[in-house]
Amino acid sequence: MRQKLYNKKDHTPQCATCVHARVIDGDADVLCVREGVVGESDVCRRYEYDPLKRKPTKHRLSGDFSAEDFSL
Ligand code: SF4
Repeated sequence: MRQKLYNKKDHTPQCATCVHARVIDGDADVLCVREGVVGESDVCRRYEYDPLKRKPTKHRLSGDFSAEDFSL
């Protein structure tokens, strides 16, 4: 069986990450090819996940570094 490159269960279905959605600049809504203008968090039965539209969460570093952390 072919291994998937991403975990489909690891995301919440919403129009913002759907294959059929297009981003509208400067607006919280998205343009759906099938439904027209819809909200980012909306979803319908035609939802298909597009991993390239996922917004990754930022990892924050703790700022507790010392000189030893940067020496070999
Ligand atoms: S309305 Fe349905 S098909 Fe359109 S972007 Fe949202 S989930 Fe995808």
